[in-house]
Amino acid sequence: MNQTIDAYSDIRDAVAKLCARFPGEYWRGLDREMRYPKEFVEALTGSGWLSILIPEEYGGAGLPLSAAAAVLEEIQRAGCNGGACHAQMYTMGTLLRHGSEAQKQRYLPKIAAGELRLQAFGVTEPTSGTDTGALKTAARRDGDHFVVKGQKIWTSRAEHSDLMLLLARTTPLAEGMKKTDGLSVLIVEMREALGHGLSIRPIRTMMNHATTEVFFDDLRVPAENLIGEEGKGFRYILSGMNAERILIAAECVGDAKWFIDKATGYAKERHVFGRAIGQNQGIQFPIARAYANMRAAELMVREALSLYEAGKNPGAEANMAKMLAADASNEAANVCIQTHGGFGFAEEYDVERKFRETRLYQVAPISTNLILSYLAEHVLGMPRSY
Ligand SMILES: Cc1cc2nc3c(=O)[nH]c(=O)nc-3n(C[C@H](O)[C@H](O)[C@H](O)COP(=O)(O)OP(=O)(O)OC[C@H]3O[C@@H](n4cnc5c(N)ncnc54)[C@H](O)[C@@H]3O)c2cc1C
Repeated sequence: MNQTIDAYSDIRDAVAKLCARFPGEYWRGLDREMRYPKEFVEALTGSGWLSILIPEEYGGAGLPLSAAAAVLEEIQRAGCNGGACHAQMYTMGTLLRHGSEAQKQRYLPKIAAGELRLQAFGVTEPTSGTDTGALKTAARRDGDHFVVKGQKIWTSRAEHSDLMLLLARTTPLAEGMKKTDGLSVLIVEMREALGHGLSIRPIRTMMNHATTEVFFDDLRVPAENLIGEEGKGFRYILSGMNAERILIAAECVGDAKWFIDKATGYAKERHVFGRAIGQNQGIQFPIARAYANMRAAELMVREALSLYEAGKNPGAEANMAKMLAADASNEAANVCIQTHGGFGFAEEYDVERKFRETRLYQVAPISTNLILSYLAEHVLGMPRSY
């Protein structure tokens, strides 16, 4: 579909080949029962795709973010769902950039070997929502441990992860203090913690996303599991967010490509009134527009990736890439359903499933309004609105 030259055609081909082993039928079965795609994630892990960002000295491939973006885009483009495992790619940066050498030695080789899964990311809470600085989960120092009390919500993949990156308040909010100060990042070893202060409750959602509520009831976490400096956690999480936004944007581009391929194919095949529906401009134009919007979003993803890889801090580009790509995939999803008429709603076409899955990215990991606020305030210099 694309005319552009891509440096990662080998990676893309290999990932597409792996994904071909997990056709729509596989995902439909999981979706019905809200089951985790364990076999798919194991295949990706076994082939090393989820550890490509880990430096070679720790057993990974040491590839740049654009390689991870290529992997995730291909997964979505093939009709699979990287939401089951994408966090390992985007949480990695926090550990890589801010973790101590001892933490890296302890965890990275095992993650690279597939013995440990770093898939859970505990930031959002029920009462604070987007206002991260207002989170209430507290980690109180007690000797050589932190004692964690509180609750997270939407902690995806918690039941399928061995490690969680947890953002908790280590210094109580005081008068005049910046809300984003006093937060710290801890690595929680979930297997030991379960039943000893950590409990997990799944949340059923409109798509199969293995998301949960997580409760901390005086969970003891060794102080050596603190990442970086105490109280600076918000900064560490923020520094990983550009990567997260860019990777999710790449996934949305992949989704949009899947929807456009699917809609185009159906428009050529389906005959009504004695001719292909794709002969009608009323069918062609929305698909062509969705294609143009996807390509524009793809350019912004590339721009964000090249700035990121040049060591810049592309907050605006990462946010714009995420918003434009999520809009492109949402538009393509809608057009794909419309092109399929009634069949768009039938499970066996996979369109309705992918439609539900891609809708998430209007809201998570950051909602469109918050991206627009960021651009208005930080790029265009308008007053802060909240
Ligand atoms: C399936 C799923 C998986 C997720 N996985 C994870 C995960 O693994 N880890 C994790 O930490 N979080 C996760 N999240 C949480 C996700 O990041 C949040 O849902 C998202 O950031 C929005 O927060 P909220 O739901 O609390 O919405 P709220 O903050 O309550 O916002 C509700 C609405 O109000 C709008 N709004 C809020 N404030 C403003 C404002 N100032 N100006 C304009 N509009 C505003 C928002 O844009 C949104 O549309 C997940 C969410 C879902 C649904």
